[in-house]
This record gives sequence, C-alpha cells and structure tokens, in this order.
Amino acid sequence: MEPQILRLNIAGLPLEWLHWQEAVGLFARGLVVWTLGENVRTVKGGYSRIDCRQSRIELPSILASDGERVARPRTIYPLSNRTLFARDGYLCIYCGKQHGQSELTRDHIVPKSYGGLDVWENVVAACRRCNQFKGDRSIESLGMELLALPYRPNLAEYMALQNDRRILSDQMEFLSGQFSKNYRTL
Ligand SMILES: [Zn+2]
Repeated sequence: MEPQILRLNIAGLPLEWLHWQEAVGLFARGLVVWTLGENVRTVKGGYSRIDCRQSRIELPSILASDGERVARPRTIYPLSNRTLFARDGYLCIYCGKQHGQSELTRDHIVPKSYGGLDVWENVVAACRRCNQFKGDRSIESLGMELLALPYRPNLAEYMALQNDRRILSDQMEFLSGQFSKNYRTL
C-alpha cells in the first residue's frame, strides 16, 4: 500500500496525511521547512537546461511546512466508524473478539433513546451480536462490562488512528511522543 506522508506545522503539530503528489507540490513551492524520517519515495522531475541533469525530490515520511493552507492544527476530530474501530483495536469491547471492519458496529453505551450522545466518550466498537443483544438497554441492567473505557483521542492519537493500517514506524514513533495516557494498544 502507498505510504502516506505526515505533514506537520513548523511547531511540530500534526496537520494532515498527504498523498506523495501533494508532498511534491509543497517541495516545488518551497514550503517544506524541515523533514524527518526515512525516504519513502524518490520522484524524478524535469531536466535542467544548464547541465541537463534530471532533478530529484526525496520524499520523507514526515515533513514540516509553512504555508497558506491548514497551518493551524484541527481541533475537531470527526467521529467516524473507521477511527472508532481503530481506537478499539478492532475488538468488540463487550465480548473481546476481534472482527473485520465490516462486522463491527458503533454502539452507544448510553443508548440514544436515553439521551446518550454520539460522541467519542459514549461509543465503542461492538460486534453485531453484542449490539443486538444489548439493544436499547443499559449495560448495567444486563450485567455487561466494557473491556476498555472509551476516550476522545487527542490530535496526535486521532492522526494515528486515521491512518492506522498504513502508518510507518517512524511516523508512529513521532506521533506517540504526543499521545496521552488514554492511548492503548488493544
Ligand atoms: Zn461482541
């Protein structure tokens, strides 16, 4: 799978995941201030008219850039099933079995019908069976337990979860320096 490039602002806060072509655009416009990590791709450019040599851009796994767009890190992390399931390690948080994304569902711990909100703190990954069994009832009334407590990811955690299956080890190493104590590997 094509690795994605982690874009930071110059203060080192993560901004977004880039496709390599977007990264080339930043280099071409002279917006890359510093880089980290291994080379993930070498891109050949045009030929110089002076010495006829072909230009090359070595794309790193992490780059920090200045510039016009999204220089400020995001503060809202949309709750999607993809990031939620990644947060919960693709486990059903009730029975503990590991599942593929298509077999998991978003379960509201406090059911929506009881005023439970669709927020990170109130949702977990659950298999269809456990979700159906639980239905609109509370976990206390059913004697069910959560294997891990839900949490709202911080910026670095959110970025890691977003790119969960494709993240490179040096990107993970960088982001994990900004993880909270909530982050876990299930
Ligand atoms: Zn289950």
